[in-house]
This record gives sequence, C-alpha cells and structure tokens, in this order.
Amino acid sequence: MYIAYSNDNEIRANGEYGGVVTTIMKHLLEEKIVDAVLCVKEGHDIYDAVPFLVTRPSDISLTSGSMHCGTLNMAKFIYKYLNGCRDMKIAVSCKPCDAMTINELIKKGKIIKDNIILIGVNCGGTLPPVKTMKMIEEIYELNPKDVVKEEISKGKLIIKTKDGEKAIAIDELEEKGWGRRENCRRCSLKIPYNADLGLGNWGVTGELAGKATFVEVFTDKGQKILDEVNDLIEIRKAESEEIKIRQKINEIMLSNSTEKKEKDYEGSTGDIIDVFHKYEDEFSKCMKCYGCREACPICFCEECCLESEGPEWIPGGYTPAPPLFHLTRMVHMVDSCTNCGQCSEVCPCEIPLSKIWSTVNNKIRKTYGYVPGFAGENRIPLTQYDTKTKKL
Ligand SMILES: Cc1cc2nc3c(=O)[nH]c(=O)nc-3n(C[C@H](O)[C@H](O)[C@H](O)COP(=O)(O)OP(=O)(O)OC[C@H]3O[C@@H](n4cnc5c(N)ncnc54)[C@H](O)[C@@H]3O)c2cc1C
Repeated sequence: MYIAYSNDNEIRANGEYGGVVTTIMKHLLEEKIVDAVLCVKEGHDIYDAVPFLVTRPSDISLTSGSMHCGTLNMAKFIYKYLNGCRDMKIAVSCKPCDAMTINELIKKGKIIKDNIILIGVNCGGTLPPVKTMKMIEEIYELNPKDVVKEEISKGKLIIKTKDGEKAIAIDELEEKGWGRRENCRRCSLKIPYNADLGLGNWGVTGELAGKATFVEVFTDKGQKILDEVNDLIEIRKAESEEIKIRQKINEIMLSNSTEKKEKDYEGSTGDIIDVFHKYEDEFSKCMKCYGCREACPICFCEECCLESEGPEWIPGGYTPAPPLFHLTRMVHMVDSCTNCGQCSEVCPCEIPLSKIWSTVNNKIRKTYGYVPGFAGENRIPLTQYDTKTKKL
C-alpha cells in the first residue's frame, strides 16, 4: 500500500487526487505496453460520462478526474465493441462493479484476461445523472449548469460552483430519496480488490489530502506496472495509521451496505422461485422493450432466445411479457449478476430489476459460496468471506 501523486504538474492538477491513474495510462500507451486505454471523459456536461478509447497519449488528458454521475459499466463496451480484447491489449479504468463484470466475462470466455489490465478506482457509489441535476436545483438550490465539480468526502456530497461549495450529508439526502443509485447503496465492494491496482483517497490525510491517492497493489501485474512508473510519480509506502483510516472508512461503508441489503432482501425467505413470485406484480409492468437485456453486461448471446416469439412463448405485440420471459432471462445471467444496476437504469417501467436479481444472486452466493466478480489471482476481501465456513 502506497501514497502517490504524479510528477507531471499538468496531470496532477487535472487528476482527481494527484493524477496517478492518468500517469499510468499515459505510460502504458507511450511504452506501447497496451494498444489502447479505455477511460471515461466528459460528454455534454459533468453529468454525461462517455466511455473513451484512447490510442494517442496526447488525448489522455481528456480522461482525468472522477465522474460521479458516470453510471456506465465498461464491461459490455469491451466485449461488444472491442471483441473482448481478442485483437488488442487494453488497460481500463474501472470501478469495482466494472472490474466485477469484466472478471465474470473473463470466466465466460468473452474477454481475454491476458490482454487486459484493470486499473481500479475505489467507489463509494455513483449518482443518477438526471435525478442529481434535480437534487442540485431543489435541495442545494443551485443551478446544475453552474456546477463545476461534485465530490464525496467524509460522508457528505459536496457540490462546487465557481463561487463556492455546499455540502450535505449523504445519509440525509438518501433518507429523502436523493443521493446515490440504489444498487450502489447495496454494493459490498468499495475497494477494487478484484483489479490489478486499486486507487482512492481513503487514508490520505494531512497536507496530501485531496492532492494524492492511496494505491493498493492486488496482483503481480499491478506491482509490475507500479514499478515501471516509479520515476513518473512521487510515491512512498503508506503508514500504518493511514492504512487503519482507510480500513475504518471501508468498514463504515460496508456496514451501511449491509444494512441496505438486509432491508432489500427482507421477506425473501424462500427459494429462488419464491423471490420470483414476490415480484410478479412488478414483472407484470414489463412492456418487453428488451432494454434490460441490451444494457446487462452479462447478457451476451448473439441470437437471444428471448427474441423468439412462438405463440406459447412470447406472443408478438402483447404485453406484459409472460413470467417465463423474466425467468428465462434470470437463468441466463443471475449467477453472474454483479449488482451493477444497468438494468434498472434503463427500465422505462421502473421495475426494480437490480434489486430483484441481486436478491436472487445473494441466494446463490449463500448456497454455493460463489463470488461473482473475482478471477484468478485476485484477492477476495476478508470482510466478505468467512474463512471457517468458506462462504460469504
Ligand atoms: C464514480 C467514482 C467514485 C469514487 N468514489 C471514491 C470513494 O468513495 N472513495 C475513494 O477513496 N475513492 C473514490 N474514487 C476514486 C478517486 O476519485 C480517484 O479516482 C482515485 O483516487 C484516483 O485518483 P487519480 O488522481 O489518480 O485519478 P485520475 O488520474 O484523475 O484518473 C481517474 C480515472 O478514472 C476514470 N473515471 C472517471 N469516472 C469514471 C467512472 N464513472 N467510471 C469508470 N472510470 C472513471 C477516468 O477516466 C480516469 O481514467 C471514486 C472514483 C469514481 C470514478
């Protein structure tokens, strides 16, 4: 575990917490260790995060900084548009849910592990863009267009304009229905133990707070990369007090997630089919737009069986889709569901899909001890794994 910041003044100034991710990405491109890096850049405004495939080192500066309204998941982009890295080597900046989904696709042979480097960033949660703009207007009483930056620090969501900043406790916002996406509140992986490196600000204190990032190495690949950029960054080992602070914050975040999960899974005491029955009324809202399937990074078949419209199966033109439609989709992806929330995000009928699949997936985890989102040499965080029972 280390504390680091970039030696390049411009990268340091534009980076979220010292620009180490940007420095690493630039180095990987310049040295031709990868053919491209997949990051995120600002589209129309700060609420619009766009995946950006960078092949020229000079373009990397466009990707610095953290986009908290960046609700996108990088995995689908990689297997759908980059042929699962079959023909190119890439590095990708990834939140824990991006890394989870990428690892699931690696296990299913859809992304080639040797051709991808996962540069992970901690994530306390992302914000739904449209709702966040509304929240800024109604609760912060600011014009969303005036906002230059949003930041989550010490349990508060800080909204910054050129004239100053306003901070409100996230708990307070979430009690009133604002704040982070609901799947993020449930998420139990805040530090990307499933990536090659994990970078975040938790644990950086004193005069470096806000100017440097904590870097944790999770794989040999990650260590090799960090060694290579040694001359490009200012780096020192983290002190035990800093490590403790980082762990403490992570524990608080995870305990909040556990509370949320318990609430969400409440009443789902039976088997998987019982969960399904519990939400039948919700499924009856479905207008069969296929949005959930298109958005799901784990739904990857090219000729999808959900598309066949035999009369007893899914009669064309009729809504709602019969329960078997959802049951089929569930069987198709739920073992690998990473609670990334893409399905809920796009559902025009507001079916709480992510919550439903996460409930089912939780049963699979508990029954079989299967941990979606980890692959090969990555560490499973001890906070999630009972070493006695060998189950989550
Ligand atoms: C949505 C989000 C939430 C975060 N929450 C926390 C937190 O609660 N606690 C914590 O310790 N750290 C958090 N981080 C990590 C932190 O903000 C920094 O990214 C990290 O410290 C690295 O700093 P840096 O200056 O080296 O990054 P930079 O050099 O600025 O590089 C940041 C990289 O992240 C990429 N990126 C930006 N937005 C996204 C996105 N939405 N999805 C995927 N990649 C993205 C950029 O394209 C860039 O490659 C979060 C990051 C993100 C993206």
